[in-house]
Amino acid sequence: MSGETKFSVLCSLFNWIQRSKSSAKKRSKFRKFLDNFCKPTDYFGAIRLILPSLDRERGSYGLKESVLATCLIDALGMSRESDDALRLINWRKGGAKTGVNAGNFSLVATEVLQLRQGMTSGGLTIKELNDLLDRLASSENRVEKTSVLSDLIRKTNAQEMKWIIMIILKDLKLGISEKSIFHEFHPDAEDLFNVTCDLKLVCEKLRNRSQRHKRQDIEVGKPVRPQLALRVGNAAAAWKRLHGKEVVVECKFDGDRIQIHKNGVEIHFFSRNFIDHPEYGHAMSSIIIQNILVDRCILDGEMLVWDASLNRFAEFGSNQEIAKAAKEGLDSDRQLCYVAFDILYFGDTSVIHQSLKERHELLQKVVKPLKGCLEILVPNGGLNAHRPSGEPCWSLMAYNVDDIERFFKETIENRDEGIVLKDLGSKWEPGDRSAKWLKLKPEYIRAGSDLDVLIIGGYYGSGRRGGEVAQFLVGLAELSAPNTFPRRFISFCRVGTGLSDEELDAVVTKLKPYFRKNEYPKKAPPSFYQVTNNSKERPDVWIDSPEKSIILSITSDIRTIRSEVFAAPYSLRFPRIDRVRDDKPWHECLDVQSFVELVHSSNGT
Ligand code: ATP
Repeated sequence: MSGETKFSVLCSLFNWIQRSKSSAKKRSKFRKFLDNFCKPTDYFGAIRLILPSLDRERGSYGLKESVLATCLIDALGMSRESDDALRLINWRKGGAKTGVNAGNFSLVATEVLQLRQGMTSGGLTIKELNDLLDRLASSENRVEKTSVLSDLIRKTNAQEMKWIIMIILKDLKLGISEKSIFHEFHPDAEDLFNVTCDLKLVCEKLRNRSQRHKRQDIEVGKPVRPQLALRVGNAAAAWKRLHGKEVVVECKFDGDRIQIHKNGVEIHFFSRNFIDHPEYGHAMSSIIIQNILVDRCILDGEMLVWDASLNRFAEFGSNQEIAKAAKEGLDSDRQLCYVAFDILYFGDTSVIHQSLKERHELLQKVVKPLKGCLEILVPNGGLNAHRPSGEPCWSLMAYNVDDIERFFKETIENRDEGIVLKDLGSKWEPGDRSAKWLKLKPEYIRAGSDLDVLIIGGYYGSGRRGGEVAQFLVGLAELSAPNTFPRRFISFCRVGTGLSDEELDAVVTKLKPYFRKNEYPKKAPPSFYQVTNNSKERPDVWIDSPEKSIILSITSDIRTIRSEVFAAPYSLRFPRIDRVRDDKPWHECLDVQSFVELVHSSNGT
């Protein structure tokens, strides 16, 4: 009978695994748990708690640390102003003693819970816990979530609650890989999971470790774990690894990896984490039905945003916004565009065992491209036809290392993310990251946390935001003498995405009285700004007094690039506005020297 195994037993396993140093010990503890302490009918119930990020039976909890903090404060009946409540809210800074447990929400929460919960286990079973977690995921508002959390708190002790919080946040920090868990569970578990992405099915089909399972192929409607690329350091290393192979080199697009599963009119858009994204359907379904000329297939590719006014792909990060605009029927120069670079299933058969060259041929037969909407990536064809003049093409046959160098260089100049090299003779392998696909990316430097920068100029938008400032030029402060305000700001990067329309309007309205039209090249920029002569940098308006300006907290893809366009030595790649820092005065802007130190103190990736 299912439902007999206690959650406290699983917590002991977690503690043991966490304490064990060697991977072999961790694995044998897990095996012992399965053999001696867990009923086979509870296997799925337990493993979904051990590998919460692979569990798709339950929806999302909608609880990241900050919301979880307020729900826990309410569930514990604490005042939001109390020291412990503030500790939870400011979990990044650590618990009671500053710095201790900093950045680890579940440990800070355990400190708070220990003072309020007893030591004895409430006797909750794994089944009961899963039922409560189902309730937590399906509850629609914070009040309901808080009530489930108080139920959980009542039925557990602080240790158990610590693990539950980690399960909710989907990271148990056990120091054992998902591969090891699968392997210890059953020798065929990983393979079966890779082609079904269905943890329940794996746990139920493979209960008996000594009974082998026949290798299963992929199916339309079930997401497949994507094939991944191995990183190489330079073009020569890539060429060496692919020595003697027929090689295609492709642009590495920076969007969302999406598998399109078409079964008649039923269409799924599975992400890399095997989550279905029906929101892409509004813009894409009818195009897929009409332009994919076969009833059943699986395509592999990247979902991007095509900017028709600029005739290029938009920077990463606007897919959801554009999908929403399409649903609401809003007119825009930007639209979703799917670039199919592979085909995995065709008609009634999986084609992953065929060579990439054969799959490219199939792709050309199956997909009728539609410019800026549905494109295919095949060497010397497909998207090549639409690349704006003067820019590199998207996919090429490479015959020597120079071909790769040249393509890579053009990619960097075009500010693309990098390149992917593929062996044209290779089959498509679910979940594989061996050397069949290699990726080569420019060396970027980690920038770390949020950066507080000052708005120094604005750029007008087009389309919906035509005639209004829609992007900002932001600057870093030049280091000033101690206890004095900065006098000069150095141009750093251009940033537009991240704020809602309302937030953007509020910033623009506040700054409007200080806009000064940029009369470049006639007039020099305001003397308190240091800029370059690069025309790509020049904003349409300057903010004519920095002390009236606003600080923005920006983040980027954790990468910085050596800047050729802006005056600061580094700029950010794909920066996004995280929030408007109304709470910070203009002079608390990050200074160039601190930023450069930040860049230098971090390792390249
Ligand atoms: P990264 O952060 O470098 O994207 P990653 O771990 O997300 O790394 P990798 O497997 O290393 O992913 O790189 C492959 C990813 O690159 C794919 O998941 C896909 O989203 C993206 N991609 C973009 N263009 C291509 C392409 N032409 N062929 C294959 N993958 C591509």
